[in-house]
Amino acid sequence: MASALLASRTELWGAALEVLPEKVGRVTFDSFLRNSLPLELDGSDFVLGVPSPFARAWIAERHLRTLERCLTELAGQPVTVRLEVASVEPVERPQSASPPAPLHDVIPTRGAFPSLPLNPKYTFDHFVVGTCNQFAHAAATQVAKAPGTTYSVLFLHSKVGLGKTHLMQAVGHYVQAQHPQLQVVYISAEQFVNHLINSIRDNRTESFRQHYRSVDIWLVDDIQFIAAIEGQTSEEEFFYTFNALYETGKQIVIASDCPPRQLQIMNERLRSRLQQGIVADLRPPDVDTRLAIVEKKAQADGIAISRDLLMRIAQQIESNVRVLEGALLKVCAHASLHGVDLTPPLIDEIIRDYATNTAPSRVSIDEIAGHVARHFDVSVEQLKSARRSRPISDARQVAIFLAREMTDHSLHSIGKFFGGRDHSTVIHSYRKVSESIERDAQMLWLINNMKTALSE
Ligand code: ADP
Ligand code: MG
Repeated sequence: MASALLASRTELWGAALEVLPEKVGRVTFDSFLRNSLPLELDGSDFVLGVPSPFARAWIAERHLRTLERCLTELAGQPVTVRLEVASVEPVERPQSASPPAPLHDVIPTRGAFPSLPLNPKYTFDHFVVGTCNQFAHAAATQVAKAPGTTYSVLFLHSKVGLGKTHLMQAVGHYVQAQHPQLQVVYISAEQFVNHLINSIRDNRTESFRQHYRSVDIWLVDDIQFIAAIEGQTSEEEFFYTFNALYETGKQIVIASDCPPRQLQIMNERLRSRLQQGIVADLRPPDVDTRLAIVEKKAQADGIAISRDLLMRIAQQIESNVRVLEGALLKVCAHASLHGVDLTPPLIDEIIRDYATNTAPSRVSIDEIAGHVARHFDVSVEQLKSARRSRPISDARQVAIFLAREMTDHSLHSIGKFFGGRDHSTVIHSYRKVSESIERDAQMLWLINNMKTALSE
């Protein structure tokens, strides 16, 4: 039996090391877990010695559950994990075959700026302006024309697929073309954190800071992920860089899925600096803007399709420009594959799965809670209760995630439904589930099935 086989802590940890890279991600594994030591196994208590306080905070916040689940599975009995900061030098190192992942797995080139490449299509020329994004566009244009002078911080926020990344990169392109001497760095918050972890691991924090200090235009995408780590180190380091650039008159552009006041960050000075910048949201485009977007896209890609048919697509896909573009491509692919003439009914048929407009069926929070409760075998009352034990809090997080994704309720009213929780708890739950969807195929599948079931 598994429990008999993996009775010793070293064996158990050795087995865990085999499966953990996939579960927690390479960066975390190589930075923290590979060098951790199984210090003690006493009944169900497993004490893991981790290399630094930062590692402890990092693992505690993001990976403790995964770790416990994994050890529980391997041991064949419940295991709870306690983290202790211990010596980095392994004393009795369990076998672990592969050498640490090279740094360039994470950072494109060692020593160079960890900037991600800009998408050549994300320029101002390719961006369609409508009332939904006019203010954001105007602010971005001004920033691009006079970086670091007019508004030192531009904060763009919207739901997914509405052009934040596009607009932010358009600033980058423009500045690069006009002022080639300026150092433009585009990075996602997640990449920033990865870079930070590597620097801490390699004792290169100082050069990490120097790196960022010579940036002239700092474009930081998906900042909400900075906030997902309560270990605080990454947030503090972000604040440090932010301030260094801010105070030397550099240009900062930030994109986020929520406004600054809803960002789940601890540092109130950072929040207030973000709020003091230009804060611009992008809303879902109206039908004329959507038509202009598909027309532009069709033109750019050399797609010959009549305006009426484009209108047909634009009318049906409302909420997300990326989906709109996907629908256009699907229609064109269908036409060229099957050699058929496109007609309005055929278009409706092809984009049926994408269309948001035809089936406005909105699910209620009650239905979501009921469905999730049944699946996790808990009661709706438990979801609304203060209890935090495992299946209940897991179920609650999933329900909150679905409520935020599938309904138009505000954070406040979702929190209120689930036992009067405040909006930061709602955001936290949402993040947790979003994160696990990204690394856990089973979770993705589960959420996907629930969404499908709920929207039927
Ligand atoms: P976000 O970062 O807000 O999730 P993106 O910037 O990635 O959204 O945009 C999603 C897709 O939609 C991209 O291909 C982008 O070029 C396109 N897009 C979004 N808004 C516009 C717009 N106003 N004009 C042209 N294309 C747009
Ligand atoms: Mg984006």
